[in-house]
This record gives sequence, structure tokens and C-alpha cells, in this order.
Amino acid sequence: MSSWSPFPSDSIANEPILPGSAVGVLGSGQLGRMFAIAARRMGYRVHTLSPDTDTPTGQVADVEITADYDDLDAIRAFARAVSVVTFEFENVPAAAAQAAAEFAPVRPGGNVLHVTQHRLREKTFLRDAGLPVTPFRQVRNPMDLSNALRELGVPGVLKTAGFGYDGKGQAKINAAEDAVEALARSDGAEMVYESFIDFEREVSVVAARGTDGAFAHWGVIENRHRNHILDVSVTPTDLSPAVVRSAVEIARSVLEKLGGVGVLCVEFFLTRSGDLLINELAPRPHNSGHLTFDASATSQFEQQLRATCGLPLGSTELLRPAAMANLLGDLWENGEPDWAAACAFPNVKLHLYGKASPRPGRKMGHLTALADSPEEAARVVTVARDALRLK
Ligand code: AMP
Repeated sequence: MSSWSPFPSDSIANEPILPGSAVGVLGSGQLGRMFAIAARRMGYRVHTLSPDTDTPTGQVADVEITADYDDLDAIRAFARAVSVVTFEFENVPAAAAQAAAEFAPVRPGGNVLHVTQHRLREKTFLRDAGLPVTPFRQVRNPMDLSNALRELGVPGVLKTAGFGYDGKGQAKINAAEDAVEALARSDGAEMVYESFIDFEREVSVVAARGTDGAFAHWGVIENRHRNHILDVSVTPTDLSPAVVRSAVEIARSVLEKLGGVGVLCVEFFLTRSGDLLINELAPRPHNSGHLTFDASATSQFEQQLRATCGLPLGSTELLRPAAMANLLGDLWENGEPDWAAACAFPNVKLHLYGKASPRPGRKMGHLTALADSPEEAARVVTVARDALRLK
């Protein structure tokens, strides 16, 4: 049995896990798919486990296991067959990470999952580490809520403490009555109330930490959201070198304080007064880092593999300014998008995740454009995406 606890330091093995070995991915979405592509390119075998079949990851993995994350016997059998386990979905239950850790190193490690799969724990960790985070209060009942409203005022955002992404489980609060209603709808779930930030823009830093403590990052990426879902990411930004340095140092500090191994994304609000506030962490490759697949010497997916396997980290040099646009299911509204039209842009790369049903809001793929400037890349990627609809 392992001596797993929610807060061990990350298990650091000395021996790298070399090509030819099998790596296990818990979760089976597009992040796992792009990780699997990077891993297979470097000669690794990939196993994936999730409750689904014919998944984005499973389609490119060597082995696809279909099991619930709480089927701990299946998780143990999965971990026994691989040399290391990582995940592409941070809401894997802690018990699953713990069961896997009995048979293989789990990277980044159960402690990182434990902190980052719960907003309140994550924000408390960041605040206690002295890192800048959006002002927040825990809300378990109407009394907490009225204290939070008194202390932080409105507008604010009431979010579920656990299991939320892309704006799910969130309500904007403009007046105290909105908050009372939102809390009533929450069915007793633990919530976090945070100040609404009138940000100038949203940015992220995708960074990685190796088993030897080495640190790598892809600089600052600017992110534009639509309906709370990432729409377009662009890099490099026109932010001052001081802001870029500060964002990167915060990411380094998060990774060191968490003791994480692997890729992690820090999402920030940049306030109108030029301050960086952390909105949230993602302990894995992130949608804003997808452009590294085509634009950087080493992509976030290859870096995740290198870190997970205890190999030296690769260069994160940006080869060309780049922009990424997500392709959501809404694009299928009038039938299959015109893929040839997007491919007519010679510096645009098409990525599709192999998902069968294009539901509105579902991330089905993305485009990446490379250009001489970030503005040009952003322009081309949106023109190419528009061309998909114009049959
Ligand atoms: P989240 O799921 O917390 O990352 O939120 C998704 C998006 O909602 C963010 O990227 C922001 O665009 C917006 N948002 C979330 N929290 C806040 C906040 N406190 N103030 C302003 N906008 C927010």
C-alpha cells in the first residue's frame, strides 16, 4: 500500500520513464488526445480510462478502458499496466488518484488535484501563499452570504465551490436579492462569493515543472471569452515586460508551492490599474496553450509528457506569433462546416477532436493561425473560422 495522503510532496523518481513505456491518462477528452498524439510521436504507448467509449483520447491511444472513476478496481488494473499516470481532467475523484498511486507514480499528484478541484481550497491556498487572488468569501448559508455581501459589496459572482468550469455553476450578482435567489437555487452546495472584477483583459500563463524542479513557461497569452467560454487566445501580448515578468513569477511560485510536476495554467484578470489577480488554476495543459502545438518548439502536450516521464523539459521558444480560435458545436448549426475553406488559409492549422455530437457550447476543435504579428494572427484565425460557416 502507498502512504498517500492529500498533502504529500510529489513523488520524485530518479529514473526517467523512457520511450516504449506506457503512460496512462485519466480522462479522455481533447487534452488527452493531444497529449496522446505527442506521446505516440515520441514512441510511447498510451492508455486512457474514462466512463465513455470512442473518445477523443481513445481514438489515438493504444488502449481505451471504459470504467467509472469510482471503479477503483478498474483504476488499479489500469495503473498496473502503465509506468506513470497523469490526468487531463482535474475532477477525477481523489480516491481514483489514490488507487492509481498504489501501482504507478501519479503526476502531478493527488495533492495538486485536491487543491485545484475545489475553488475554495484553491483560493485559500493562493491567498495563504501570499499570491494575488480575486477577493472571495466562503458561503455555506444565508448568514455567510450576507456577511460576504457586506464585506465585498456588489457586483460579485457566486460560484459553486467544487466541480465547475467554463462559467458553469456561476451567477453574476448585481444586487443582494440576486444573491439570495442564486443561493436558494444552489441546493445547499458550498459556494464562493467573489468580487466582480472589471478587468482590462484576461491573460494566462501556461508553465511546467519537471521532476527535477526545472521550470518552463510560454510567456503570457491573452484570452478573449464569449459566454464564459474561451473564444480566442493570442500570443505574444503587448503587455509591459514588468507585467509579463510578474505573471510568470506568479506561475513559478504556484508550481513550486504546490510541488506540482507537469503543466499548469494560471488564469489571470489584469485590472484596469495594471494588477494581476488569479482567477483560477488548471493543473494540466489548458485551452489557452493549444496554440503551442503549432507555434512553439515544444508544445504544452509534449512538455506534459516530458515532465510526467521525468525527462528534461523542452524549449518553449515561440516560433511565430499565433492565435487560436475554438470551434464550438454551434458551428454545426447549418450542417457540417466547410473544412476545405479553412484549409485554404495556408498558415492556419485545423484541429478536430473526433467528437461525434456537436452540441452547442461543446468544444469540437480549434484553429491556430501563425503570422508575422499577433494582431495579424488573430485577424486570420477569425476570418478562417468565419469561412467555415460560408458554404
Ligand atoms: P471561471 O469558470 O471561473 O474561469 O469563469 C469563466 C469566465 O467568467 C472568466 O474567464 C471570466 O470571463 C468570467 N468571470 C469569472 N469570474 C469573474 C469575476 N470575479 N469577475 C469578472 N469576470 C469573471
